[in-house]
Amino acid sequence: MRVLGIEGTAWCASAALYDAETDSVLIESDPYEPDSGGIHPREAAEHMSEAIPEVVDRVLTAAEAEHGPDAVDAVAFSRGPGLGPCLRIVGTAARSLAGTLDVPLVGVNHMVAHLEIGRHRSGFDNPVCLNASGANAHLLGFHDGRYRVLGETMDAGVGNAIDKFTRHVGWSHPGGPKVEAAAAEYTSEAEADADGADLLDLPYVVKGMDFSFSGISSAANDAADAGVPTGEICFSLQEHVFAMLTEVAERALSLTGADELVLGGGVAQNDRLREMLAAMCDARDADFHAPEPRFLRDNAGMIAVLGAKMAAAGDTLPIAESAVDPNFRPDQVPVTWRSGESV
Ligand code: ATP
Repeated sequence: MRVLGIEGTAWCASAALYDAETDSVLIESDPYEPDSGGIHPREAAEHMSEAIPEVVDRVLTAAEAEHGPDAVDAVAFSRGPGLGPCLRIVGTAARSLAGTLDVPLVGVNHMVAHLEIGRHRSGFDNPVCLNASGANAHLLGFHDGRYRVLGETMDAGVGNAIDKFTRHVGWSHPGGPKVEAAAAEYTSEAEADADGADLLDLPYVVKGMDFSFSGISSAANDAADAGVPTGEICFSLQEHVFAMLTEVAERALSLTGADELVLGGGVAQNDRLREMLAAMCDARDADFHAPEPRFLRDNAGMIAVLGAKMAAAGDTLPIAESAVDPNFRPDQVPVTWRSGESV
């Protein structure tokens, strides 16, 4: 089976072809890069309307050149969660493409796709999943036919919390890679210094299985206003935020008895986060996997891969029931493609 996936929940217009027979994924993406500030929903939607037809055309042309006119067996699209104006453009494109190609339509939950791609690439059987993305942060575990939310942010997504600080200090979007670079530079300079790195005391908020990032963004902004060196703030921000995620991930492993952890989402590209999670898993004899970067940030490859599993399970959508859902939660999705598995 070959599935054409389309992603466009927020900033990344992306199309992909997944060939299940060879397990190969071709991805074409065109990111929206705001001139200043964060992601503006209207500008992001304007970007989607221009970029989606182009990335779809590139993938479809490559697919038909290799496999002929029947190159695509199904069209999968990110149905939510995300920005409504962007999702509607992607939904319209997917419906019309499925109609033109006369193939089934598959509606994919973007957050479940972030996590299923880790399960797919790792070959893990039944992992706990940590999604560390821009607009979200949650721990998921599979139980009784669904991905249950074991813990989640009570306010901002993890990437958005970091980006809030970088906007405050005037850095362009996305801020996460710049915080990572500044923290690494600060750490290596501090290592050469006899006193070592200074860890600022920032709010560390974990309540049961949930966590909060809004206080830490504000405290980091206040520290910048008070003249604390930016590298020290970036280092401290990462250490606190990633320790919160690692603590809750460890508790999720402990609660479920799972011995596999997969990481997903754009923030998962951060080396320090992966290092902390890998060390925690190592200490408890659990296996850890984070897919390669092209499958971590928003991408249509993960939509096409999960779309293929759903299509194979007959989990397709009639056009009349294919409305997008900006608040689509992962635990709303009946997991049709893992039949027979339960925790
Ligand atoms: P969601 O998937 O929840 O809809 P999103 O659409 O914002 O979120 P993602 O691609 O998952 O998209 O994540 C983007 C986020 O990842 C941004 O907030 C960005 O700052 C962050 N990010 C990217 N690279 C890094 C990095 N190296 N370290 C930390 N954060 C990073």
